[in-house]
Amino acid sequence: MNQPLNQILQVIEKISELRSWRKSLKGTVGFVPTMGALHSGHAELLNQMKKNCDHRVLSIFVNPTQFGPNEDLSKYPRTFQKDLEIAKNCGVEVVFFPSAEEMYPASYSTFVEENTLSQPLCGRFRPGHFRGVTTIVLKLLNSVQPHKAFFGLKDAQQFFVLKKMLEDLNLDIEMIGVPTVREKDGLALSSRNVYLSPEERQKAPEIFKTLTLASEKIKKQLSLDPILTEARQQLEAHGFIVQYLEALSLPYLQPLNTTSNPLPAHDKTLLAIAVFLGKTRLIDNLIF
Ligand code: AMP
Repeated sequence: MNQPLNQILQVIEKISELRSWRKSLKGTVGFVPTMGALHSGHAELLNQMKKNCDHRVLSIFVNPTQFGPNEDLSKYPRTFQKDLEIAKNCGVEVVFFPSAEEMYPASYSTFVEENTLSQPLCGRFRPGHFRGVTTIVLKLLNSVQPHKAFFGLKDAQQFFVLKKMLEDLNLDIEMIGVPTVREKDGLALSSRNVYLSPEERQKAPEIFKTLTLASEKIKKQLSLDPILTEARQQLEAHGFIVQYLEALSLPYLQPLNTTSNPLPAHDKTLLAIAVFLGKTRLIDNLIF
């Protein structure tokens, strides 16, 4: 089914060229969208795609519309040659690598918004972020036209927002969520980890430790607010600035303790966190 790994990896920069290639394909087409600076977390998505799809596309595009004015767009890490090596080793056939002008020509004027799941958590602190994400992902899905698209649960809110967009807009694409890949000490792999100083890197595993401890307590049905307050205080004592630490129900990201709302039945909880460690913003979560 899959092609040998020594295949020639094609880099395609134009949507029109991607479309012609796509038209020539038979069999399942898989897609992994990324912003590059690939690490083992991305590689896991690519490996899942390799296992499940006859044809495999990776996109690398640092999407300007999902960055706020004071965020790290210009210094976002770019490691294209290394990314190509990883892509090749993980069985990717085509790397779609469009320019900003290709995706957003000067006349560009259409955006896609999900208006419910994108409101809490990161939505509160990064206005416009998910609007940028839904817009670019829809554009990429329309360009690639995959049968299956692979996303990391490291960005859990993004995953559920996109899933809702696909449902609402009737896209016939299977979304596959891949569990978070972590360093041995528990730190979730992220392209932004390179910003951490050695001292910050040493502290960073506290995020996962704290989430794990809090999740154990929540599973025991102890009262939610004191658990979250204590967890937050512990991180702050280690020098983290905690932007949010919240437990919400899945798949609709509703507050857990809301009783007045007729919530859809949920069987899973998302415990999600965003912190600043120095100037670096890190997110993580557990689903249980
Ligand atoms: P990014 O390049 O950061 O936009 O991420 C591209 C895709 O890789 C997204 O679906 C992310 O959720 C996923 N991803 C990033 N880090 C990890 C990780 N540590 N484990 C699993 N997936 C990840």
